[in-house]
Amino acid sequence: MNYTVKLRNRLWLFKLDREGSAGRHFRELAAAREWDAARLRADREERLKGLLRHCLRHVPYYQPLLTTSGWNGCGNTAPAGLAALPLLRKDILKRQFDNLRSSDLARRKWYLKTSGGSTGKPAVFIQDEYYQQWNRALAMLQDHLTGYCPGESKVVLWGSERDLFQERENFRVRLGRRLRNETWLNAYRMSPEAMAAYIRKINRIRPKQILAYVESLVELCRFSRRTGRPIRSPRNAVVTAGVLTPAARDLMEETLQAPVFNQYGSREVGIIAKECSQKGLHLNVLTHFVEITGTGGEVLSPGETGDIVVTLLTNYAMPLLRYRIGDRGSFAAGPCSCGCSWPRLAAVEGRVTDNFITAGGTMIYGALFRHFLFFQEWIKKYQIVQEDYLRIRYLIVPWDDGGVPSAARQRDLEEIAGLTRRVMGVDCRVDFDFVEEIEPSPSGKHHYTISRIGGR
Ligand SMILES: [Zn+2]
Repeated sequence: MNYTVKLRNRLWLFKLDREGSAGRHFRELAAAREWDAARLRADREERLKGLLRHCLRHVPYYQPLLTTSGWNGCGNTAPAGLAALPLLRKDILKRQFDNLRSSDLARRKWYLKTSGGSTGKPAVFIQDEYYQQWNRALAMLQDHLTGYCPGESKVVLWGSERDLFQERENFRVRLGRRLRNETWLNAYRMSPEAMAAYIRKINRIRPKQILAYVESLVELCRFSRRTGRPIRSPRNAVVTAGVLTPAARDLMEETLQAPVFNQYGSREVGIIAKECSQKGLHLNVLTHFVEITGTGGEVLSPGETGDIVVTLLTNYAMPLLRYRIGDRGSFAAGPCSCGCSWPRLAAVEGRVTDNFITAGGTMIYGALFRHFLFFQEWIKKYQIVQEDYLRIRYLIVPWDDGGVPSAARQRDLEEIAGLTRRVMGVDCRVDFDFVEEIEPSPSGKHHYTISRIGGR
């Protein structure tokens, strides 16, 4: 490690320790990788029990539910108490916003999680400093496991709504990136010219790590191969926010000549799972309690595929218990050859998104369109189809009891159409079709976005 990297690393760790508890949590996480299953179970019981007790005392939404379930913190185990609660859906989260807030919020360092500056409706959930510090610690653990040292150069191929809508990130954000030695490239809009420039930049910077959305890095690798522009090998790449298929992994590893690590997480609950050196997708058991449930909400066993349901153990400001995240998956059976006893997900299905392409040939990150609809609480299910370069069709299944007046819905639709045109072009035709059901693809997966533009 050279002198500048060492200096950046010290500065970063000093800043972390001064600002909060992330460094301490990281050391806890690193130590817990050595724990056996019994110790992990005991630790989970304590953390879960602490959260449930807090909900019983301070969270109006959960008070009657926990009382009816019979859980009082003394008898049943915490997972059993939790299993008696209903699943938390996104629309309930929106409607019960006030009741989900902890009554002791005033003494917590809390903040609203925003959905980004320009994508319609504002945020609907609250997070606190304690959650933030743990999430930072999880990112540090991922660095540690992939052999990346904070301060080394990193390229982040990530979505920036600000960039997309011609605004700049603020000074504080830019300074933080500088300090961490990160170069950010916008993954939302990638024209051939932009992709060529990204590759030139990567080859000049020679990053030790590339952190990217799965679909964006796949797109960049395809472009690299198609146009004969090699990308200089980083030490590794970490990909997230999408389904990492074996084919996508092979394509990236071959193009980059470097290992690819998967990371599974979401905006609402942070980093849920990450891959070890043996490609085991280990759940972050100190911070997330994960269940796989069947159609009736019953808990399934390893090997059985169902809905991924997450209880976030670190956010006391607005606790999310049994939150149905919208993806499907299954647990892996048996121990991982890396030696860590943290349970693993065998596979994650869901968030299947095609990228879209503008008439001018620019690739637009498909999941961006999901953000336009994310906080529309009257929408139960949706699919966004690019029928042609200048035609986008939204298929929408509304909740029966959506409770949103039609004028408000109309305003939402106009806003979505406006945002779509800003991204795809002013001439783009935007249609909304209300349907009763959206059938999964022949493989059984739900596709959030579909592009019917072939021959790319
Ligand atoms: Zn492992």
